[in-house]
Amino acid sequence: MADYDYDVLVIGAGPGGYVGAIRAAQLGLKTACAEGRETLGGTCLNVGCIPSKALLHASEYFEAAKGGAMAKMGIKVTPELDLDTMQGQRKDAVKGLTGGIEFLFKKNKVDWLKGYAQFKDAHTVEVAGKTYTAKNIVIATGSSVTPLPGVEIDNAKGVVVDSTGALELSSVPKKMVVIGGGVIGLELGSVWRRLGAEVTVVEFLDQLLPGMDMDVRKEASKIFKKQGMTLKLSTKVTGVEVKGKKAKVSVEPAAGGDTETLEADVVLVAIGRRPNVEGLGLDKIGLERNARGQIETDHDFATKVDGVWAIGDVIPGPMLAHKAEDEGLAVAENIAGLTGIVNHDVIPGVVYTQPEIAGVGLTEEAAKERGAVKVGKFPMLANSRAKTNHEPDGFVKVIADAETDRVLGVWCIASVAGTMIAQAAQAMEFGATSEDIAYTCHAHPTHSEAIKEAAMAVTGKPIHI
Ligand SMILES: Cc1cc2nc3c(=O)[nH]c(=O)nc-3n(C[C@H](O)[C@H](O)[C@H](O)COP(=O)(O)OP(=O)(O)OC[C@H]3O[C@@H](n4cnc5c(N)ncnc54)[C@H](O)[C@@H]3O)c2cc1C
Repeated sequence: MADYDYDVLVIGAGPGGYVGAIRAAQLGLKTACAEGRETLGGTCLNVGCIPSKALLHASEYFEAAKGGAMAKMGIKVTPELDLDTMQGQRKDAVKGLTGGIEFLFKKNKVDWLKGYAQFKDAHTVEVAGKTYTAKNIVIATGSSVTPLPGVEIDNAKGVVVDSTGALELSSVPKKMVVIGGGVIGLELGSVWRRLGAEVTVVEFLDQLLPGMDMDVRKEASKIFKKQGMTLKLSTKVTGVEVKGKKAKVSVEPAAGGDTETLEADVVLVAIGRRPNVEGLGLDKIGLERNARGQIETDHDFATKVDGVWAIGDVIPGPMLAHKAEDEGLAVAENIAGLTGIVNHDVIPGVVYTQPEIAGVGLTEEAAKERGAVKVGKFPMLANSRAKTNHEPDGFVKVIADAETDRVLGVWCIASVAGTMIAQAAQAMEFGATSEDIAYTCHAHPTHSEAIKEAAMAVTGKPIHI
């Protein structure tokens, strides 16, 4: 049998790769992780989940102080924005957490191979001029921003930026155009709107948040408009012209029609993300990609090439950190000869705006395509805690199979929807019925009681509406 340097070599130290590497080491496998960035943690910790949440959290406080939400509770303040400090605490959060992964690597004896890895063959990679062999290689290279053809992103100049550039702005733009009404565009658009920018979101589809439940998408549009965002739905961008520190964005109706020009100080291109495979040398191991550029795997995360596995954003499925993490755990367990499984039917998704928007499982539309459903809805306005906290927007919706009552999907718009959705995911993982949720005792007064009431509404018997 060949003698390898490592049992497992993971390429990429994002939430998929670093979690997979740590679990592999915990299972007694000699493990290395190659990462080309200067810090560990991937997109998520460096330029994704964490820095965006740092700015969302801080800007939420700013808006609460500025917009009167605090005054309603008897706290009168006139806030002054110190953007340098706000950006500083974002950088501190990233530094602390990426450093934490480095500590965990040392603690678990995972070797960090610094540099970008390239396959030489299915058991050999080259990193920074050195060759390493491994019995198992896990591709966890993640994803990067999808460019908009004809539109040049220049984060350093700060006029046409991607999500990474939008996190780094050193001043609040007067006018910001966000191309793409998905999660990232809405989160970062919300940050800069709260801090004072006039934000216009241009979305090709007729609603925001593709992939989410239609009721949620419609309600989200109403809420974002009420908050002062201009939404241009069913609209396509036909060009972006930059002159000095300003941009002109040409848009027209998606179905065709007259062109309109939007002026902007900053244009954020947020039309999606694509898998990172360039320079990886997949041709050297004969690994093909699907039509979307992703690497296909089986249920165990094994690719068609023996000894090569793949997880996270680089494979099909929602591009989410927790999905990548769970796949990291599962792939390590499968490599170790255990049984690692990820239930891709129960992956929650959250938009961290205010209110938060969250869902797990099927949309009502998708559920109906599979058979008859029963739906229960409960407005946050009727939830005592949300009402007391001056957070009336949103609702909870529970979708259950009409015959078996098994919960197929749960959708929430609520200030703490991201936290609430965990109980729905857990219930679904255990195969709960709406009756199971309805008869589970929920603490009072909590926003989560709205999930109980929506479950009660499935059979038409909520108490508070
Ligand atoms: C602005 C923004 C906000 C987001 N917010 C959230 C959120 O709130 N919640 C959520 O769940 N998800 C969020 N995401 C998505 C989340 O960041 C990704 O789904 C997640 O990071 C994917 O993890 P991964 O391990 O597959 O890949 P990544 O995190 O992309 O990590 C891959 C790593 O591999 C490295 N790499 C690539 N090629 C090589 C190579 N050849 N050799 C060595 N290293 C290589 C890269 O440098 C990178 O560090 C957000 C993304 C963005 C951009």
